[in-house]
Amino acid sequence: MQLEVDQDLCISCGSCVNICPEVFDWDSEEKAYSFLDEIPENLKDHIYEAIESCPTGAIYEN
Ligand code: SF4
Repeated sequence: MQLEVDQDLCISCGSCVNICPEVFDWDSEEKAYSFLDEIPENLKDHIYEAIESCPTGAIYEN
């Protein structure tokens, strides 16, 4: 499982970074991105919570 953030949709609300800092951080343009290439199994529930929290649906599985 890999995650991508659509940079055009991200409004930098901070929800995903707050819910799951193990996976998301800010890039140089203050947009969220996933810094893990592969998501560990034990973080998946946490990830889905972050995905569902995104107000613009910017986070998707790749
Ligand atoms: S929750 Fe969505 S809009 Fe908010 S920072 Fe994360 S990707 Fe961007």
